[in-house]
Amino acid sequence: MAENEPDPYDVALQQLKTAAEMLKIEPWIHEFLKKPQKALTVAIPVRLDNDELVNFTGFRVQHNNARGPYKGGIRYHPDVTVNEVKALAMLMTWKCAVLDVPFGGAKGAIICNPKNMSEGEIERMTRRYGYTIMDIIGPHKDIPAPDVYTNQQTMAWLMDTYSIFHGQPIPEIVTGKPVFLYGSEGREEATSRGVMFCAREAANKALNLDLKGLRVAVQGYGNVGWNTAKLMHAAGSKIIAASDSKGGIYSDNGFDPVKVYEHKMKTRSVVGFSGTEEISNEGLLELECDILIPAALGNQITKPNADKINAKIIVEGANGPTSPEADKILYERKILLVPDILANAGGVTVSYFEWVQNLCREHWPEEEVNKKLENKIVKSFNGVYNISQKHKCDMRTAALMLGVGRVAEAIRTLGLWP
Ligand code: NAD
Repeated sequence: MAENEPDPYDVALQQLKTAAEMLKIEPWIHEFLKKPQKALTVAIPVRLDNDELVNFTGFRVQHNNARGPYKGGIRYHPDVTVNEVKALAMLMTWKCAVLDVPFGGAKGAIICNPKNMSEGEIERMTRRYGYTIMDIIGPHKDIPAPDVYTNQQTMAWLMDTYSIFHGQPIPEIVTGKPVFLYGSEGREEATSRGVMFCAREAANKALNLDLKGLRVAVQGYGNVGWNTAKLMHAAGSKIIAASDSKGGIYSDNGFDPVKVYEHKMKTRSVVGFSGTEEISNEGLLELECDILIPAALGNQITKPNADKINAKIIVEGANGPTSPEADKILYERKILLVPDILANAGGVTVSYFEWVQNLCREHWPEEEVNKKLENKIVKSFNGVYNISQKHKCDMRTAALMLGVGRVAEAIRTLGLWP
């Protein structure tokens, strides 16, 4: 975390406080929700290919399970901190509630740089991590999923590790698996499809337009960023900029995101794609465009650059890309921001569909998955939008009111034991 960046857990607590005050939630429930129910730190000793041993640090944080088993991704990143994981776990609780899927919130992480590790090293680290958190996860307890720098392969290793220790295949222990290994059709693109549905609904409300011809800039070209660019392009939008950790590209005429993806697969970056000029990640955020989609990491739009944002709509593909101070500035500037706990909830929604399919040993067709996803996202978008209109507040506050309100209602009714 850079020196001036707000601590993500402080931000999460501030968001909870705002929602609790707006909803006049009982102080005991607010107090209950401030802390994760469990935060486990584990050591993950891994033998590297050169025989050296590295003892990585990992986390699994379970925020709240009043509405269902904990659910949340696993992130591999050199800069990840326990406070970030605690914040992301809390966000997952609200996200599942906003979408009304029967899960609570969790998150996991390992402090590591997978870009500097071989596949064998990542596999050994993943399996050892799975083993060390095995007591607190389970198909009806806590179901992990992919996040930054983890993918279907990571989930397959986790499923295998858990299954070996339980003497039978247990695919419902994780979601985001390969489609041929109990994964769901549509899961790979689900987060981005949700982002696209939110962008469509937001364009309709804010600009009275559909997605055709709208100018879109996407920060981050991983699972969420690139799939969003592809789906928005297919819906008729013009993708004018994209970036990754190595830099960004811009073209006023727009470009084909699939070709950019192929270029990235060959060269490991979007930078250098023909017919585009190079821009910085900061420059991308400040481009004049209709829709800006931050789809990389947290804390990208903050007080210093919120005034310089030139988009009409922001749809948060990433978790926590906008700071609370920036939220205020953007709201005053009448930029419609669709917050992470709604905008990127397509992933957890189809994860829920995957879990249901696994439990019933069913496999639904992609059209069915996509239609069910669209229904859930559009319903949640409208629910959040209506709250924001009624209470004259931004969409983040409205989404938090919906999510925190549902969790509080569950806790109030379950009561406090003993
Ligand atoms: P990913 O690992 O597939 O991709 C991350 C991308 O961000 C890469 O292209 C990387 O190069 C880029 N990046 C890293 N640092 C950057 C920087 N400083 N500037 C610009 N780009 C940078 O991860 P992902 O799964 O696409 O996740 C991206 C974001 O979306 C994260 O915040 C994650 O929590 C959130 N998210 C992901 C899912 C999902 O289903 N994958 C669901 C909900 C939310």
